[in-house]
Amino acid sequence: MVPVVELNNGVSMPRLGLGVYKIPDEEVTEAVLTAFEAGYRGVDTATLYGNERGVGTAVAKSGLPRRDVFVATKLWNTDHGRDAALRAFDRSLTELGLDYVDLYLIHWPVPRQDRYVETWRALTELVSDGRVRAVGVSNFQIEHLRRLIDETGVIPAVNQIELHPWLQQPQLRAFHDEHGIVTQAWRPLGNGGERLRRSEVIRTVAHKHGKTPAQVVLRWHLEMGHTAIPKSANPQRIAENIDIFDIEFDEQDIAGFATLESGERLGPHPDDS
Ligand code: NAD
Repeated sequence: MVPVVELNNGVSMPRLGLGVYKIPDEEVTEAVLTAFEAGYRGVDTATLYGNERGVGTAVAKSGLPRRDVFVATKLWNTDHGRDAALRAFDRSLTELGLDYVDLYLIHWPVPRQDRYVETWRALTELVSDGRVRAVGVSNFQIEHLRRLIDETGVIPAVNQIELHPWLQQPQLRAFHDEHGIVTQAWRPLGNGGERLRRSEVIRTVAHKHGKTPAQVVLRWHLEMGHTAIPKSANPQRIAENIDIFDIEFDEQDIAGFATLESGERLGPHPDDS
């Protein structure tokens, strides 16, 4: 079983879940069912991904009790503001075909619109209604988090951010730790492929533990206290990415990963969202 982390309102969330960005709706059901068979219980989707329907179909088809599955989705940038946010949530719930969502996130702060505080208040209403178990944000910088906390008094359960060995975000993670916000890594593999293969440090750690580069990177996230949502639609990789709980790092391994930080962002900067 995948270990869980307790969120700031007592809800348990799997520390590793399946990310489904860019998996087409018609393929996502199969990918999520494969992940459930491999032992995953968490799925991360978003309105933007256009595959909430397929994710919901997988939950329904899986035969798993609803309470054993953790479904997260996100509110898109064009849906900021109280009324738009509540309508967007209704649409997501309908697409997913669920009675409730486990985690609902504001996808980006979109500071140009300056409506994220109002949007955040709407999300907290959804928790009171019992239609969402926990609410959080994504791509929020320290100043955005501070405003939410100062103006509403409600601390996000999760901040899902771009995080991988090449972008380790130490200040933001320290802020999360100080406030009991769970750090969730998006693009946890740095997009996989070449970047993983060409790192000497990662290859060395992988070889030492008899694991693949992807596996040791995902283990590194857990060691650092992050949760992660690697994406794959490939059954072999889906299974590979969850087979990481027997790895035990030593200080040398952790020190090796620390040298990889380069401040390189692979996605957009939150201030430009
Ligand atoms: P990722 O780091 O998970 O990389 C995914 C790619 O890595 C795959 O397409 C595949 O090519 C490769 N890969 C997967 N498993 C591998 C393995 N075992 N060995 C080698 N290569 C492997 O990147 P991502 O998909 O961008 O991020 C993961 C998830 O994070 C997304 O699916 C989505 O759910 C979420 N996300 C959120 C945001 C946000 O703004 N909140 C942005 C991007 C992604």
